[in-house]
Amino acid sequence: MDETNEILRGVRLFNPVRNFDEIVDVAFQHDSVQWIRKTSGTPSGLWLFPGLVDLHIHLRTPGYEDAETLETGLRAAVAGGVTCVGMMPNTTPPLDSADLTLSVKKKGESLGLADIVPIPCVTMGSAGVNCTDLESFAGSGITRFSDDGCPVESDKALMEAFLRVAPFNGVVIEHPEVTAMAAGGAVNLGLASTETGVKGIPESAEYLDVKRCIGILRNSGSRAGLHLTHLSSPESVRLAYKASLEGLRVTCDVTPHHLALNERAVIDLGPIAKMNPPLRSEESRKEIVHMVREGMVTAVASDHAPHTSTRKELPLSTAAFGIIGLETLLPVTLDILGREAGMHPMDIIRLLTTAPAAILGTLPPEIAAGKPLNMVLFDPERQWIYSRTFSRSSNSPFLGKKITGKVLRVWFRRELYREDEFV
Ligand SMILES: [Zn+2]
Repeated sequence: MDETNEILRGVRLFNPVRNFDEIVDVAFQHDSVQWIRKTSGTPSGLWLFPGLVDLHIHLRTPGYEDAETLETGLRAAVAGGVTCVGMMPNTTPPLDSADLTLSVKKKGESLGLADIVPIPCVTMGSAGVNCTDLESFAGSGITRFSDDGCPVESDKALMEAFLRVAPFNGVVIEHPEVTAMAAGGAVNLGLASTETGVKGIPESAEYLDVKRCIGILRNSGSRAGLHLTHLSSPESVRLAYKASLEGLRVTCDVTPHHLALNERAVIDLGPIAKMNPPLRSEESRKEIVHMVREGMVTAVASDHAPHTSTRKELPLSTAAFGIIGLETLLPVTLDILGREAGMHPMDIIRLLTTAPAAILGTLPPEIAAGKPLNMVLFDPERQWIYSRTFSRSSNSPFLGKKITGKVLRVWFRRELYREDEFV
């Protein structure tokens, strides 16, 4: 029973929970880590770190299984080195009852691919009017809520949600958008709207909602959490960061595509680079990257948003918003925050493991002797072409592109994935 299955030699182990970064040998059995020792051999150049946590993904189930199923979505997660996902509720029907939410979680987790942290609706049907039965979710251990796809429209409902989730340390995850300002828009207001002739969405359509949410949280006097997701405007990040310094429980995330791409991508590539919030100016992109480096952004999340080609291959003004992102989350983030911004890999891995785990209220992943297997073997230098996806959809501007840094193997309780194939 005590047999060693395999020893990974000379790997650089990142263990963000313990701030551990050393070249080691790691021995493991079929389901757990056996020991970790300083290496006796030469460094392999490969990295080993805990399974990533992606706090914002869309699995499209139930209702849009033609775009993604639990299995295809979670396979895309694993292929990207992600073993814990925050699942957004904008399905049909929406995840606004504990029964439905728990049944989707159970079905997804029965596949044995990843942990799922469900993020049910704040308001019934995400219609932004009446709060869901928030306490009934908490009774099932679910404490994070979002109307993602939309903001929580009603000030009254948002205030009520903060007051009701505070007793169980809950968090409202806001998709910050002033819908009246963004309505009908498809690209950034500025160069992109001028060049494409399509209606623009200003950055203020995002940061004015950030301001509103922070104001309501402050005024609630509660210890509820507010997480502002997929921020695209430097002003939004500034507001979130200032609120956190003030002592409010405010956190935020940015996506790899807003770090890597600017509005030029949607001008050149069209709907495949259309997303909400839209890709911004190069100036804003650079400022956001700088802000991540300065520690003003709490986490990075993919906002994996699969769409069928029939919903994506339409004119720019009517095509669906969003791109898939699980498989490129890590290499794209490393490319920008590491190569461009010069951040230490440990700090980047933290943005993708311990930080999002804390936002989701789940235990941070760890590689340690005796712990169940949850780890990713990664080659930071390997160049490859992103030519196929495990997602059911293929709406990514990175498809067909050369990527640096590749997930080689993934273990989650057992070995799941090795060199482009599921074991
Ligand atoms: Zn959103």
